[in-house]
Amino acid sequence: MFQQPVYLDNNATTACDPRVVETMLPYFSQIYGNAASRSHSFGWAASEAVDLAREQVAALIGATKQEIIFTSGATEAINLAIKGAYEMYAGKGNHIITVATEHKAVLDTCEHLAKKGARITFLPVEASGLIDLQKLEDAISPDTILISVMFANNETGVIQPIREISQIARKHQVIFMSDATQAVGKIPVNVNDLGIDILTLSGHKFYGPKGVGALYIRRRDPRVRLVAQLDGGGHERGLRSGTLNVPGIVGLGKASQLSMLEMERDIQHILPLRDKLENALLQLEQTFRNGTAQHRLPHTCNLSFNYLESEVLMMTYNRKIALSSGSACTSASMEPSHVLKAMGLSDEMAYASLRFGLSRFTTEEEIDFTIQTMLEGVEELRGKSIAWELYKDSLS
Ligand SMILES: *Cc1c(COP(=O)(O)O)cnc(C)c1O
Repeated sequence: MFQQPVYLDNNATTACDPRVVETMLPYFSQIYGNAASRSHSFGWAASEAVDLAREQVAALIGATKQEIIFTSGATEAINLAIKGAYEMYAGKGNHIITVATEHKAVLDTCEHLAKKGARITFLPVEASGLIDLQKLEDAISPDTILISVMFANNETGVIQPIREISQIARKHQVIFMSDATQAVGKIPVNVNDLGIDILTLSGHKFYGPKGVGALYIRRRDPRVRLVAQLDGGGHERGLRSGTLNVPGIVGLGKASQLSMLEMERDIQHILPLRDKLENALLQLEQTFRNGTAQHRLPHTCNLSFNYLESEVLMMTYNRKIALSSGSACTSASMEPSHVLKAMGLSDEMAYASLRFGLSRFTTEEEIDFTIQTMLEGVEELRGKSIAWELYKDSLS
C-alpha cells in the first residue's frame, strides 16, 4: 500500500531524497564551521564541502566550478541574473526579450525593471507552448542586452528549442539566459552543448533541499559579467554576499550527483507512468492535453477537463491526490494560468486544467489509484454540472 494523498505536485517541490538528507546531517551540528572562516579546521571542512558541492553542481550542467554561484534558490538567482545584467550592460542598451509563459520570478523581475526604464519584449507562444524563432529574431535590436527563455515550463513541461535560441542569440551577440529550474536534474542539460550563458536552478525541484539554488555564469566565449544585488562580505566572488548555507549546499551537491548517476533510470521509470496516466485520462470525453506532446519533460502532464472546475475537483479529492491546477502560483488570487492563457486557452479551459507532476518516488500503484480516482471524480463532478448537461443535450 501507499500513503494517501498521493503526491503529484512534484513541479511545486519534490521530496528531499533520503540520501541527500543523510549527506547533509553532519553539517548542522558536527561540521558547522563558516565556510568563510580561513583560520581553523571547522572553516576548512565547511569550505571543502562547499567546494565539492560546487563541482557536483557544475558537473551536472557541464560547467566549471568557477562558473557556479550559490543562492537561496532559483528566484534569487533569476533576480541577480536579470537585474545584474541590466545594470552591467546599461551602456549597451536597455532591451530585454523574454516570453509570456515564463515563471513569475522572471516576469515580475522584468516588470520591475520596466518601471525603471527597461524596454521588455514578452514574446507570445504558439498553441503548442513553443516560441516562434522568427519572432524572437525579429524582436532583437541593437539595444538588446539579454534574451531570457525558460528551458522547460513548470506548468506544461514544454521544452523550448534552446539550441536554436542560443544560435540566434550568438549571431546577434546577445547574452542568452535560461531558467532551467524544471529541467536540471530531470533531463540532460549541458550549458556548452546548448550555448547557454546564464542558467538558474533550484535544489528542491530535483530531490534536494529547499532554500538553496545556483546561478551559472559563463566565464569565457563570452565572459558574462553581472552587478551584485547584495552588498556584504563579498562571498561567491563578490556576487552573492552572505554566509553560505553549508548544509543546503552540500544537499544540492548530493542531489546533483544522484541526478547525474540516475537520470536515465529516473526517466525510464517516470515516463511510462506519466504516459499511462495521460493516456488513461485522455480517454475521458472533452479532455485535452495542454502543450506539445513531443518537446516535453517526462514527469509533467497538464490536462484540461472541459466543463469541470479543476479547483472543485482538487478540493473534493485532496485527501486522495495532492495536485495543483495549471495556475499553481496564482490560484490564491483565482487568476487563470497566464501560461495557458498565453497558449490561447479560454478562461474556462484554463480553470478546467490540472497539472500532474511525477517524481522518482512515484509508483505504478499510485498512478493506478490516481487514474481510478480521476475517472470517478470527473464523472461525478460533471454529473452535477449544468454546463455539462447542456453540452450532453446539445449532442443528442
Ligand atoms: C520553482 C521554479 C522557480 C522558483 O524556484 P524557487 O526555488 O521557488 O526560487 C523558478 N522557475 C521555475 C521554472 C520553477 O519551476
